[in-house]
Amino acid sequence: MVEAAGSEPDLERVIVVGTGLAGVRTCHELRERGYAGELVLLGAEPHRPYDRPPLSKAFLADEAKAVDPALNQRWYAGADLRLGVTATRVRPGVLDTTAGELRWDALVLAVGATPARLPGTDGGPVGHVLRTLDDATRLRAALVAGARVVVIGAGWIGAELTTAALRRGCAVTVLEAGPTPLALPLGETVGSRTAPWYAQAGATLRCGTRVAGVDDAGVVLDGGERLDADVVVQGIGVRRELGWLAGSGIEVDAGVVTDESCRTTLTGVYAVGDCAARWSPRANRRFRLEHWDDALRAPAVVAGAILGDPTASYDPVPYVWSEQFGRFVQWVGWRDGEPAVWRGDPSATTGWAAGWLDGEGRLTGFLAVDRPRDLLQARRVIDVGRVVNPDRLANPDVPVKEA
Ligand code: FAD
Repeated sequence: MVEAAGSEPDLERVIVVGTGLAGVRTCHELRERGYAGELVLLGAEPHRPYDRPPLSKAFLADEAKAVDPALNQRWYAGADLRLGVTATRVRPGVLDTTAGELRWDALVLAVGATPARLPGTDGGPVGHVLRTLDDATRLRAALVAGARVVVIGAGWIGAELTTAALRRGCAVTVLEAGPTPLALPLGETVGSRTAPWYAQAGATLRCGTRVAGVDDAGVVLDGGERLDADVVVQGIGVRRELGWLAGSGIEVDAGVVTDESCRTTLTGVYAVGDCAARWSPRANRRFRLEHWDDALRAPAVVAGAILGDPTASYDPVPYVWSEQFGRFVQWVGWRDGEPAVWRGDPSATTGWAAGWLDGEGRLTGFLAVDRPRDLLQARRVIDVGRVVNPDRLANPDVPVKEA
């Protein structure tokens, strides 16, 4: 157990909203730090807490293996778990929910994000998104061998969806509005290096292709072309549904605005995980991360801050991984522009990497494809803000930490 530094004396009830990884880990960290008061964990979903990354990977791709995405029950064993309860309003010291009012001394918002959808495409027999266990169960049942699947969006989730659908024997077409896959998080140069992966795996990738609508028979493209499909999945990013916080005094800017201690603009209220827009002094920007690693680790800081630890502060090097087309793709840091350094040959079947440098030559971003050791070292190099030698970084035989 970690000692609480200066526990706040009047803390009798902490409420955590959201039963995803960030909410569950917040409960765990509070108890680990010795918080002995009342702890309520409530969430809108009916299911016991579960993890999301398997939903687009083993859970979807391999029904026979019956992957169980449940989160570790010990993490929330110390909380009063209330499922199927939605928070509807925050007032100082009071949370309104669909199950009545709850008083709080500290309130943690861990309400995640919701898949974005193209306008006018909610539901329908062929229309899918992938965020929840229910979404994944429904989609898994639809991904039968021979099904014609259209994936809208060639981002992280779109690539994983395509991988899973191909594994299920589906015929997959991927429609991407941008010029390359992953253009938004990684830029076009790197994105273009991942484009051949689709055809190599047996999918059809169409970039620069805008979807005008989804109907019961498939999709209609801008310009009128129609693609018939048995399954249409949108993987076009997420939005945060935070309208219910309006008027609460909690600032929202495409995410709940927090400082490095995960404190919001309303005293006693914290935000963590995908819903948060946290200030990063290290990167001098506000991050709206949708990364598992952040939901896992930031709750320790929230718990510390709630319990009065003056050192509680969180400004990590962001990290995300993805498993696509048999490759392990990892991204750390942040980027401005295109990569300065290629490490290895991106057209080779073996691993390669790319690095982004700032104006002073410090490494700020690093993408590793099947090079996990490089990634670990790069994260450390970014963390300490070290200047690197681009020629040495480009040499895959030189360890990243020695570049
Ligand atoms: P969530 O897990 O979204 O949990 C939020 C919970 O709050 C939800 O259950 C929601 O119903 C509930 N809620 C919302 N509003 C309210 C309300 N008003 N009242 C009550 N409850 C509410 N990241 C990676 O780094 N690598 C990966 O490979 C990866 N794969 C992923 C695959 C999929 C299919 C998905 C969807 C995400 C993936 N991620 C991945 C992202 C990662 O899973 C998320 O960053 C992480 O789950 C965020 O956790 P969270 O607790 O912040 O939010």
